[in-house]
Amino acid sequence: MEGRETPTRPSRTTPSSPRVTPALVKRPRFQTLARFWEGQDVLARWTDGLLYLGIIKKVDSAQETCLVRFEDNSQFSVLWKDIFPPAVPGKEQLCCVCNSQSCTSDNKLVHCGKCKHAYHQECHVPSVPSDTDSPGSSWMCRQCVFAVATKRGGALKKGPYARSMLHMKLSLPYQLKPLEWDPLHLTNKQQCYCYCGGPGEWNMKMLQCCRCLQWFHEACTQCLSKPLLYGDRFYVFECSVCTRGPENAWRLPLAWVDVSHLVLYHLSICCKKKYFDFEREILSFVNENWESLLLGDLTDTPRSERYSNLLHALTAQKDRFISGKEIKKKKCLFGLQSRVPPPAPQSTVTELRLQETDVRSPAPCVSSLSGRMGVLKRPPHRTKTPSIAQRTRKERQKLQRAVTQVLSAFILYRKD
Ligand SMILES: [Zn+2]
Ligand SMILES: [Zn+2]
Ligand SMILES: [Zn+2]
Ligand SMILES: [Zn+2]
Repeated sequence: MEGRETPTRPSRTTPSSPRVTPALVKRPRFQTLARFWEGQDVLARWTDGLLYLGIIKKVDSAQETCLVRFEDNSQFSVLWKDIFPPAVPGKEQLCCVCNSQSCTSDNKLVHCGKCKHAYHQECHVPSVPSDTDSPGSSWMCRQCVFAVATKRGGALKKGPYARSMLHMKLSLPYQLKPLEWDPLHLTNKQQCYCYCGGPGEWNMKMLQCCRCLQWFHEACTQCLSKPLLYGDRFYVFECSVCTRGPENAWRLPLAWVDVSHLVLYHLSICCKKKYFDFEREILSFVNENWESLLLGDLTDTPRSERYSNLLHALTAQKDRFISGKEIKKKKCLFGLQSRVPPPAPQSTVTELRLQETDVRSPAPCVSSLSGRMGVLKRPPHRTKTPSIAQRTRKERQKLQRAVTQVLSAFILYRKD
């Protein structure tokens, strides 16, 4: 098993009121069966959406959490909803969601071929078709499909697991409406995000759906052509629940100030420091990851011009960046005034949402997943950017030109 990415770990916090109301999350719960105990080996979902092996050190019934020690010996408090124990021998005849074994002819118990847990056809999300549990069939439950298909940089896009995952992703295993959000809709009290219902941190490689506004882990999405950078909100994304089919993602144009900000933010999360050497760290990161940055119109910029454009942005935007010179250090050092991601291109998303009524996608089409993956069906419309007041006049004009050329940027993205 690969280690969890360190940047997300120290910042992971359990909310003060982590209890998840039972009605909110349709998930296995066996409180009465002593579902969790000390010394139990479990899989626990982390804020990156991935499952990690751990061992329960302590069960807290009042908070509905367990203290879990992971393979790297780190210990964290994990909500019950994010802990998945193996099936208990002798209990396989009980549905792991409702804890009952009574069946009807159209709601039988089916067993996951991988984890051996039993589910009523109607207790699993989405409900399990009949004839799934016939001998030789290899039906896999939602948890196991996600365990296999989720990956750093984006989930599997092709093959049977990718198709199963897309099918699972058409419905959420929890209710979206009761989630209690902060005013900016970045975090919810229940720590419930994505298709997986796991915990998350919006600035740690997550995409926000422009229709339902829920946040989704990079590891659970199947539409990205390149991995996300920390704090990268320059995407318009539509989740599979909203499209009722494959996800859509469009890259939004970035100005040089955005590139500088994004790279500095990403580096500051990865390296856990504030200042970076312009040539040795910032510029070399940009050059090494040039293709992955998906910069649309800026893609053709020769190396020599990247140098001057980035340096200009870093020195001109004093509200965003601080140079080493200002703190009596080397002048080739740059950092962020405050360690926050670049501002989101809000109005783009809002305008897209306003038009959502006329862009309903066709019914789900699982079999065409690989063919349609990443296909751009609908270009976002012309927009203004929200932070426009903060931008210089010259930059504003440049940016507006870039936005009106959004379509060509998307075509570039599609080619990738
Ligand atoms: Zn997820
Ligand atoms: Zn059940
Ligand atoms: Zn399973
Ligand atoms: Zn959505």
